[in-house]
Amino acid sequence: MSGEGPPVNGRDLLRIFVSLECPVCGGVPFDGSPNMLCRECLSGIRFLKPPFCPSCGGEYRGFLEVCPECLAGKKKRWDGAVAAFAMTGTIKELLHSCKYQGQPELARVIGDLAYMAVCDRLPKTDCIVPVPLHWSRALKRGFNQSACIAERLSAHTGVPCEPGLLKRVRFTGQQAKLGRKERLSNLSRAFSVPDSTNVKNRAILLVDDVMTTGATLSAATQALKRAGAGAVYVFCAVRRQRI
Ligand SMILES: [Zn+2]
Ligand SMILES: [Zn+2]
Repeated sequence: MSGEGPPVNGRDLLRIFVSLECPVCGGVPFDGSPNMLCRECLSGIRFLKPPFCPSCGGEYRGFLEVCPECLAGKKKRWDGAVAAFAMTGTIKELLHSCKYQGQPELARVIGDLAYMAVCDRLPKTDCIVPVPLHWSRALKRGFNQSACIAERLSAHTGVPCEPGLLKRVRFTGQQAKLGRKERLSNLSRAFSVPDSTNVKNRAILLVDDVMTTGATLSAATQALKRAGAGAVYVFCAVRRQRI
């Protein structure tokens, strides 16, 4: 080192280890905490508004008991569902960068924001379980974004996160390429509970990043219930409603 270039101050040094900026635009975090969104990106989040569909946790209007999608689909297997965001704006960007640019810290930001959004309507449970990825997908991505979100919910609530409780046993591949029937039969055998004594009579909060049709969460719920779970509630950060 010859002493050339500008001197490195403390903030620059810290920046090497911790990202201080808004992870979406590089602006100043609204609450000053590392890796948190700036005020503008925060305002780009579409929080779901009540009334909430009791079946999927999404939004619904009018006189129906459940949202149009739940009315059209099969009755859900879980005991209740909570969701935080619509798939648009800042959350869409965060999720995309998290999954396709390999940034697990963004899933943690989503988890923190989701907790803020739903803390007063989260059901009381004995443990929190993320929907597992198949090991080959986890290996490719390096992390499971649902597990990152589940860990943040656990940190805020004090309810233990127990990811080993549910395993993905079949590689379901790119579900999007399959027809609905193939997809469901593929999924129905995708999850297993290695030790049912961990599940028996317990209330479980099952966590996923996105719910679209709910088929994946339904298959995971079924596996937990078959193993003797007392109750299964579902939490998804994003409820993607198409109707
Ligand atoms: Zn920003
Ligand atoms: Zn619904």
